[in-house]
Amino acid sequence: MKQSQYFSRTSKTAPKDDVSVNARLLEQAGFVHKEMAGVYSYLPLGWRVLQKIENIIREEMNAIGGQEILMPAMQPKENWQATGRWDSLDVLFKIKSQHDNEYALGPTHEEIVTPLGVGRISSYRDLPLAVYQIQTKFRDEARAKSGLMRGREFRMKDLYSFHTTEEDLARYYKVVAESYTKIFNRLGIPALYVEADGGTFAKYSHEFQVETPNGEDVVYVCNKCQLAVNKEIFSDEKTCTDCGEKDYRETKASEVGNIFELKTKFSESFKLTYTDEDGSQKPVLMGCYGIGPSRIMGVIVEEHHDEAGIIWPESVSPFAVHLIALGGKDAEVSEQAEKLYSNLLAAGVEVLYDDRTEASAGQKFADSDLIGIPNRVIISSKTIAENSVELKNRASGDTSLVPLNQIMEKFSNA
Ligand code: ATP
Ligand code: MG
Repeated sequence: MKQSQYFSRTSKTAPKDDVSVNARLLEQAGFVHKEMAGVYSYLPLGWRVLQKIENIIREEMNAIGGQEILMPAMQPKENWQATGRWDSLDVLFKIKSQHDNEYALGPTHEEIVTPLGVGRISSYRDLPLAVYQIQTKFRDEARAKSGLMRGREFRMKDLYSFHTTEEDLARYYKVVAESYTKIFNRLGIPALYVEADGGTFAKYSHEFQVETPNGEDVVYVCNKCQLAVNKEIFSDEKTCTDCGEKDYRETKASEVGNIFELKTKFSESFKLTYTDEDGSQKPVLMGCYGIGPSRIMGVIVEEHHDEAGIIWPESVSPFAVHLIALGGKDAEVSEQAEKLYSNLLAAGVEVLYDDRTEASAGQKFADSDLIGIPNRVIISSKTIAENSVELKNRASGDTSLVPLNQIMEKFSNA
């Protein structure tokens, strides 16, 4: 992608009305545009990052047998009345049509996925089963002030599993928990495993929380085994469920995932039953498992940045290489840069190419630091004189001269 033609623009000044680090950097670097509190457009850079995050999650959901579906954001009121959540869920967005019909904008999808199971799950032979989607959710959040970390419109991956027995539900719950740990490691934000209150529907649940100073949650982490507890269920007397110790540290964190055993709560509301081996009808047991890709994008920025800008982990960086041509109108420089650009593209390397002829070197470096692509390749008359390019690592700041004939192998199998 050539920067001279790119739809995203960096800005010299930070947005004034947003205090959170992720909103400030992501807007300034041209990844997102804030439309109103809690609602963002994703520009080309930001959309690339979001898709990378979602694809990592997708790969891991497929690996544990999840079948991807897509359910509607616009949902029938009756389904929400059937569970009582039309009236009880404070964050539910309700819309009224010109014919006075009412609908919900999906904040979550138990009210859709459970009746969807009716007629598709009928026998013990159909179970276990897991379906998931990656989709836009809507919640009328009281406060949307942490940039991408708390949206009124945001992205969620929600997986739902269906089982015959509590043992099988508990087995799959562990499978998902392990998958989540893997996902957050791949995303560059290792997460704490946190015991949490199950809320209205489940006796208990677990959250995945990333320690970060701007997180909205407070958790207590066992100093011995790292199992954590959410503040809402923590007491001074509590001993660690895992190791029995009573030695905790308090920390701020952001919830990036949440897993629940719903058991039969929703299957009872929608009469989702199966015929067991002995011929009897039984309610299907369910689990639900959420991850917030857009919040994750915010958390990654909170955790991976410096004064100059974002430092993307390789796994989610919008591009692998930021190629910068310095000395703009110098024909030899642009010729070399164009050539390397097309060679890298041909080798399947994702490149953002700063081909702008009017921008100064200082401006290009400042923009590059702000955007935060892990590897920077600089071509200038100086590097051409040495038959090399300059390579700079965004995170460490390390630079080196790499001979032109070796630069391709550096990235083509990255
Ligand atoms: P929170 O406690 O932060 O309000 P939640 O417990 O209501 O979140 P879930 O319903 O379990 O969240 O949703 C699954 C995941 O979706 C969360 O773990 C989080 O990563 C993400 N998420 C939830 N609400 C938001 C939001 N308003 N903006 C962005 N992401 C969100
Ligand atoms: Mg929560």
